[in-house]
Amino acid sequence: IAMYAAKKVPGTVRLHYDCGMTAVLVDGGQLRAAIDGDHLRVHFQPIVPLGGGRPTGVEALVRWQHPEHGLLTPDVFLPAAERTGLIVPIGRWVLRTACHRFAEWTLTHGTAAPASLHVNVSARELREPDFAGFVAATLAESGVAAERLVVEIAETELMQAPAPLTAVLADLKALGTRISLDDFGIGTASLTLLHEYPFDEVKLDRSITRTAVDGRPSMAATVLQLARALDLHAVAVGVEQARQADRLWSLGYPAAQGYLFARPLPAEELAVWLTACAQVPITA
Ligand code: C2E
Ligand code: MG
Ligand code: MG
Repeated sequence: IAMYAAKKVPGTVRLHYDCGMTAVLVDGGQLRAAIDGDHLRVHFQPIVPLGGGRPTGVEALVRWQHPEHGLLTPDVFLPAAERTGLIVPIGRWVLRTACHRFAEWTLTHGTAAPASLHVNVSARELREPDFAGFVAATLAESGVAAERLVVEIAETELMQAPAPLTAVLADLKALGTRISLDDFGIGTASLTLLHEYPFDEVKLDRSITRTAVDGRPSMAATVLQLARALDLHAVAVGVEQARQADRLWSLGYPAAQGYLFARPLPAEELAVWLTACAQVPITA
């Protein structure tokens, strides 16, 4: 951290690190080079049932293995990717890579493999002509069943989209994929969106998960009631403490994701994690 802080590298965009420090670079050229140089990675974070048992899903999260700056998280480079349109080839690469890995785990881990693969997409990606066609082709090529794929789209993406994304989301639903409303609860048009689009799931924003602590009136509870009323699956994102997991479970949340269970992991490490999970006997 001190090294980054001391190193005053000039650049147009500030990088945000997990620890809150800001530093260096990122323009389209560097990002293009990262794509061409094969420096992007996909990490996977398990989604677990709060009642115990094996992971039900896994979320693909893009990373940039930077030769100088180490592993960069998406907040550092996705804004530049969106600005330059490079998010489209990046998103396609992430989907293909994630589908192939997912297909492998299904073969190697059988019933211990996660049942669903979650992939994030932005509005920009959804607006590409025949996005659903690309998804269909990728599923076919990797052998992943459409029902296994959950396309996550953030609330803010849907709200800022200049034209409604109704048609493309309907096409995705027609394929059989599921649609998840990500970062749910922080936008101002949440309710409108829930009625406008055919969601299967909501993912509780991390900032709301953080407030799920015993004894306090909780927005997490409100969101869950809403999800239930609309017959949507609910996942609480960003669970870091056992007391949050307990609280969310007692509220009735079926599933969660967070550092308490596992951080986003490279594919090889996730495979090890899955093997370890498979060795834990499941008690009902
Ligand atoms: P997201 O989809 O809401 O993903 C969850 C984020 O929360 C991830 O950040 C994950 O690492 C982080 N997280 C999970 N559990 C915890 C926890 O317990 N504590 C804390 N502090 N953080 C936790 P990440 O990987 O940095 O990704 C940030 C965002 O970038 C994602 O948020 C998603 O909106 C976007 N993103 C990531 N990969 C892709 C991609 O392939 N395509 C697109 N379009 N967007 C992506
Ligand atoms: Mg997500
Ligand atoms: Mg988020």
